Amino acid sequence: MRGLHCDGRSIRLRRDLQDPAPKSNRFQTVRVSFAGICDTDLQLARGYMGYQGILGHEFVGTLSDGRRVTAEINNSCRVCPVCLNGRPNHCPARTVIGIVGHDGAMADHVLVQTDNIHFVPDTIDDSEAVFIEPLAAAFRVPEQVPFGPESSLAVLGDGKLGILCAWVARLHGAKVSLIGKHAAKLALSGADIATHLLDEISALRRRFDVVIDVTGSASGLATALTLVQPGGTIVLKTTVAADHALNLAPVVVDEVRVVGSRCGPFPTAIRALAERQINVRPLIESVYSLDDAELAFEAASRKGAKKVLLRI
Ligand SMILES: [Zn+2]
Ligand SMILES: [Zn+2]
Repeated sequence: MRGLHCDGRSIRLRRDLQDPAPKSNRFQTVRVSFAGICDTDLQLARGYMGYQGILGHEFVGTLSDGRRVTAEINNSCRVCPVCLNGRPNHCPARTVIGIVGHDGAMADHVLVQTDNIHFVPDTIDDSEAVFIEPLAAAFRVPEQVPFGPESSLAVLGDGKLGILCAWVARLHGAKVSLIGKHAAKLALSGADIATHLLDEISALRRRFDVVIDVTGSASGLATALTLVQPGGTIVLKTTVAADHALNLAPVVVDEVRVVGSRCGPFPTAIRALAERQINVRPLIESVYSLDDAELAFEAASRKGAKKVLLRI
């Protein structure tokens, strides 16, 4: 089969890959229809985490019986103390589709864990369904940090995930400010979200109860520390490959909570898309065939690019 393969340093479309075969009924094969390219994929393609295998963790496809599905990406054992404690996404034995030790979905077929499968209703089309995984990650934030109509919340970073986080915060009633570097992307956020260019935020110091760092940059946390109120919360959505030094004294002095945040609830994301609470279509930049996946990665790497999709 075809698949976009990463050798730990660069990517290449291969046509000589083995079709994956489930070893037990714990896994099933999904025939992939669409996959999305996210910033994690761009980092993996450059050698971040030394991942070797097929990329892709945002996808939709069909089971052998034709039903449309997507799947959560953490393949966990379900029997260790961490899993039994209700945190399968943190299973120490886990693999992660297209990220850690498990081939991803930028391919004709992908193996998914049976109990990670979610059915996709017909009201969500394939190009929208690719957003279920990142939208679920955005819905993880209100699970971790309660906020409501009284809360002032800033999202730092106007990438795809940043805009999704801003929309989810608006759904929960927060007063939302989106801060980024690209006027065109800030404009996508819609009328009821305040937007600010990053170099115009000096007036926003210590304004926010909650700041979500989705910059994907090592300097994001330092900027977030200038924006958050004493006693407030910073949510880190950024996994930065590079080590960096940071003065954490303000965290202590201002008693700031710092919360790491990763994967979130798929059913909530599916409902939000199906009920049109969130419209992801404006976030789509372009659609490429899997055969042009290398070009698609170039397009996704361009500054200010929105979501680039692969039609498998
Ligand atoms: Zn992703
Ligand atoms: Zn486990």
